[in-house]
Amino acid sequence: MKNYNTQKTNIFEFLCGTISEGIVIADENRKITASNNAVNSTFGYEENELIGESLDILIPPQELSVFQEQFRHYFQQKGLVQLGFDRDLLALKKNGESIPIQVSLNPFETEDQSFIMILIADVSEQTKQKEQILKLNQTLSQLVDERTEDLRQTVIDLKDEIKRRKKAEFKMKAALEKEIELNELKTKFLSLVSHEFKTPLSIILSSATLAEKYTLPEHEEKRLKHLTNIKLKVKTLNNILNDFLSIERLHADHNTYHPETFPLNRVINSAVYDANMLSKENQKINYPDNIDELMIYFDEKILELSLNNLLNNSIKYSSDHSEIDVRVEVDKDRIHISVADNGIGISEEEQKYIFKPYFRAENALTHQGTGIGLNIVKEHLEKLDSSISFTSKEGEGSTFTISIPHKTSLK
Ligand code: ADP
Repeated sequence: MKNYNTQKTNIFEFLCGTISEGIVIADENRKITASNNAVNSTFGYEENELIGESLDILIPPQELSVFQEQFRHYFQQKGLVQLGFDRDLLALKKNGESIPIQVSLNPFETEDQSFIMILIADVSEQTKQKEQILKLNQTLSQLVDERTEDLRQTVIDLKDEIKRRKKAEFKMKAALEKEIELNELKTKFLSLVSHEFKTPLSIILSSATLAEKYTLPEHEEKRLKHLTNIKLKVKTLNNILNDFLSIERLHADHNTYHPETFPLNRVINSAVYDANMLSKENQKINYPDNIDELMIYFDEKILELSLNNLLNNSIKYSSDHSEIDVRVEVDKDRIHISVADNGIGISEEEQKYIFKPYFRAENALTHQGTGIGLNIVKEHLEKLDSSISFTSKEGEGSTFTISIPHKTSLK
């Protein structure tokens, strides 16, 4: 280090030359009077190149005005001033690059002049490390955020999974309950049916035995009577079996209905034809002749099952020589098919139980029956967006009505 204004010992020069911190000495006009090797190499200057230059060449242009303003103040300070420790301070290299520095300003006086000694530490490395740490922290916090998000998602997924499982469990439970209910229904129905089967079967047997005996031509009428009896009882058994078999469809999980468009009179004719086979002496079934053109969209089998049930009941619960009317009415939304009889009717108190499974009214107990037909019909119809209702007066008769929307939608 050269000193042109003050006297220096060799030791001082040696120290300034070898110390790793940069040292610059300037006068009160910011003119550099000395710089050591460390400053020269940090800022990219040749030895002595800085001597005589203004300190301003080491300051980045954007900080120059502030520096110039404050220099005087630094200069007049008695003690040490430190800069760049609590905020970033930049210095300008000869090649125009900026480097972060920390400086200690130390004003001193010789006999005739005032100077300031500036110790400069290049903190590029520390700044780089600080930046790296900052970056690392950012990456870490991003990672933590990501992991937290992952965890949050996992928790949501888990909650969904639990919900799904609970739903499946609920479904399974419902299916199981349905299965148990169905089995109970079947068992109960089976015992009822087997009981109901006994009488018709014994009639069939005795009629068949008798018919066998009537071999002569003059016995023709009697033989035919027994054969008709057999047919009648087989039909009754068939109806009970149809009800029973349809229970399975009622409780199936998948859709077992097949609505299609068909002429209404086809089903009515067929149901009336079957019913006529069961009718009592001189019972007459009247049915409308104005429905030839009427097409209906529905499950044909279910409509037939329903009409069979209603017609069979009307036949069963009304006397010989009575008339049963099948009527069809069409309004804006629905088609109403009713079966009316003048039979035993249903007492007012018992009317509310009529669609309950196995319920049979007091006055019906002398007739054969299972008490399940109307319940099955009602459940099927409701699944097909349709309904069944009735009006009845004990001792006077009943009218049961099925109402079907013009276009059936499945439930
Ligand atoms: P079932 O006729 O085999 O007993 P249903 O389910 O068809 O069973 O009918 C339930 C009950 O409703 C009957 O037992 C009877 O008491 C009453 N019922 C149904 N239809 C009529 C009707 N047309 N006239 C009088 N009672 C009826």
